[in-house]
Amino acid sequence: VKASNSLSFSLQAKMSRPVQARRLEGIDKNVWVEFVKLAATYSKVNLGQGFPDFPAPDFLTEALTRALSGGNHMLHQYTRAFGHPPLVKVLAQFFEKLLGRDLDPMTNVMVTVGAYQALFCCFQALVDEGDEVIIIEPFFDCYEPMVKMAGGTPVFVPLRPNPPKDGRLMSSADWQLDPAELASKFSERTKAIVLNSPNNPLGKVFSRGELGLIAELCVKHDVLCISDEVYEWLVYDGKQHIRIASLQGMWDRTVIIGSAGKTFSVTGWKVGWVVGPDRLLQHLRTVHQNSVYHCATIAQEAVSQGFQRELTLYGKPESYFVQLPKELQQKRDWLVQSLDAVGMKPIIPEGTYFLVADISQFKSDVPDVPNSDEPYDYRFIKWMVKNKGLAAIPLSAFYSEAHKNNYTNFIRFCFAKEEATLKAANDILQKWKQEKTS
Ligand code: PMP
Repeated sequence: VKASNSLSFSLQAKMSRPVQARRLEGIDKNVWVEFVKLAATYSKVNLGQGFPDFPAPDFLTEALTRALSGGNHMLHQYTRAFGHPPLVKVLAQFFEKLLGRDLDPMTNVMVTVGAYQALFCCFQALVDEGDEVIIIEPFFDCYEPMVKMAGGTPVFVPLRPNPPKDGRLMSSADWQLDPAELASKFSERTKAIVLNSPNNPLGKVFSRGELGLIAELCVKHDVLCISDEVYEWLVYDGKQHIRIASLQGMWDRTVIIGSAGKTFSVTGWKVGWVVGPDRLLQHLRTVHQNSVYHCATIAQEAVSQGFQRELTLYGKPESYFVQLPKELQQKRDWLVQSLDAVGMKPIIPEGTYFLVADISQFKSDVPDVPNSDEPYDYRFIKWMVKNKGLAAIPLSAFYSEAHKNNYTNFIRFCFAKEEATLKAANDILQKWKQEKTS
């Protein structure tokens, strides 16, 4: 007995040593784990997480089928680490057109496992201990933990809402940076700024003037720009997506990030890319080859054919990059109407497939939880999913700890959904309105 006691003591003693690496401290909470589970358990209509519930385009799934069962069995094997050659070649051709400059597919393009891994490579490759990285709020939530894991310090600057005075609905364009505040965040410690235009969650498409201001500050302070452009094709009302890399002095300091998931409505394929100067991409390649090596050959092959098609149809009405935003704009307008009709004030997005709505008029619907420090938007969504069957995502999840409390009156919906799904959401909202008024 004595021997086994001392054995279990020594085993326990060994297990008391901390297992978690210090770089993970304080970044273990994640909004998606909780809200994706909640939506799966309770929701009848899920407008939460950002993915389309409509089918991917036929030309892309057909390309995948061809890749899978066509004659080339080597498509089941490893390919080039930094990107399947047909994909990097067509991406280089495509971005040459978009940026108006020559690109080398082998050094100016790298394929990643979704835009997520592209972001991870950027932070790991470019950010050092003690470096500051400016993040514009509200922001796609993984930027903050990724900066911290690299040893950097995130510095936040908010887009500030300026409600219109003429009674019209607010637009994502009414959320703007304060130029003096933005300038005050740049210092000799600033290594990079993360720009996400069109922006998730607001749908803001940064104007040429706003991008010019950011570019000027980057050049002045010798700062890099990590430009997350995964929603580049999803812009509405004739707005134009402007690539900051095309502004003066920016190519050499910018990494452009894209995603086939958003571009071709195949979020599960996890194919992403970076485009930029070799002086930056060479370091991203070091991270990539020592962590992931490459992303599924067969998916890269199919995406390369999708781009080949889009290159031929560029700017034409049959192009998916023309058709998809057209369809999504219609869906956006349906959701705007549904929300506006019940008093959940929508902020009309200029881009992306997200829409943020103001829920401040719904406070009386949600029971107060005494002594709870859970923000109103979190409580509201939990209540809405369980009682109405409609899922969304709290906006304060897209803010830093210090600023969260100023933005708890908003929630984010995804409208990349079938007409039937949006109709079902409308039915829930209309019924809710009737119950409120009766
Ligand atoms: N950046 C932004 C702004 C996003 O919204 C997302 C996906 N929600 C990603 C990056 C990640 O894209 P992927 O699915 O290609 O990894």
